[in-house]
Amino acid sequence: MTQPILDVKHLKTYFFTDDGEIPAVDDVSFSISEGEVLGIVGESGCGKSVTALSTMKLVPYPPGKIVGGEILFKGKDLVPYSEAQMRKIRGNEIGMIFQEPMTSLNPVFTIGRQVSEAIRIHKKVSKEKAREMAIDMIKQVGIARAEEIVDEYPHRLSGGMRQRVMIAMAMSCEPDLLIADEPTTALDVTIQAQILDLMKKLNKEHGTAIMMITHDLGVVAETCDRVIVMYSGKIVEEGDVRSILKNPQHPYTKGLLESLPKVHQQEERLYSIPGNVPKPGSIKGGCSFAPRCKYAFDDCFKESPELVEITPGHTARCLLYTVEGGAEVG
Ligand code: SF4
Repeated sequence: MTQPILDVKHLKTYFFTDDGEIPAVDDVSFSISEGEVLGIVGESGCGKSVTALSTMKLVPYPPGKIVGGEILFKGKDLVPYSEAQMRKIRGNEIGMIFQEPMTSLNPVFTIGRQVSEAIRIHKKVSKEKAREMAIDMIKQVGIARAEEIVDEYPHRLSGGMRQRVMIAMAMSCEPDLLIADEPTTALDVTIQAQILDLMKKLNKEHGTAIMMITHDLGVVAETCDRVIVMYSGKIVEEGDVRSILKNPQHPYTKGLLESLPKVHQQEERLYSIPGNVPKPGSIKGGCSFAPRCKYAFDDCFKESPELVEITPGHTARCLLYTVEGGAEVG
């Protein structure tokens, strides 16, 4: 097992609102090894994006704040780091890609200027050299006519091209870790597949570890080595991708998989898990998934489940595996 590049321990990120404290990330621990692709999956509101923002120390304060835990990046805890220290790490050792590239690109500057400025913030090179490097990077992300594209403005590019440019910017500083938050959600299916292929290629060629935040288990199946499933601010299942997709243990993961379209599906309507994700912390005592769980039994409304190892390397947070007789109910 290679050294973890990122080791998050007991992370707690709370939002302090007029309605009270919301534990958006509630005691979450995970690690990512060099060159590994880790998927963090769940419906919106499950805490996956706040986990990613916390890792980069980008949770808006107020109302959000990291209130506990450690974020060990290459062995150093980022939690006490100042904004100035974090700025040196973000976009340099940790690259970021978000869902909507248009909001991350500046509409008034050319693509070339934006990519070369990203390079020059982190590398001491001349403007001319940075432009050359930018063209090279834009070619590497599969954009034809890179020499012409550098002089274009973002609005002249398609959504898929803009996302490639964002990847070029993120990769231009050769980050050790790339955090991608729903990087393909806004794109159509064909472009989505191309972007995922590109990310896999960069992962293999540069050994960049990737944290892939997504609601889409199809994206997970395509790209990830290991998966964390989050629900209501907590990890409810973790394991390697094959084991999670072939043999899910938590009722929530089973529900997510059941809601995927099947190749020969006859029915018109897709299955969806009944109800909505509760606000983290709103369900006191008991399993937060209980109101939506078709396997729920009495204890589920009273006892909070812990993460337990089901098979080596595969854990789930469910009383079916810990309460005597629970497995028979399931
Ligand atoms: Fe369902 Fe109970 Fe397991 Fe929660 S603990 S997921 S309610 S069976």
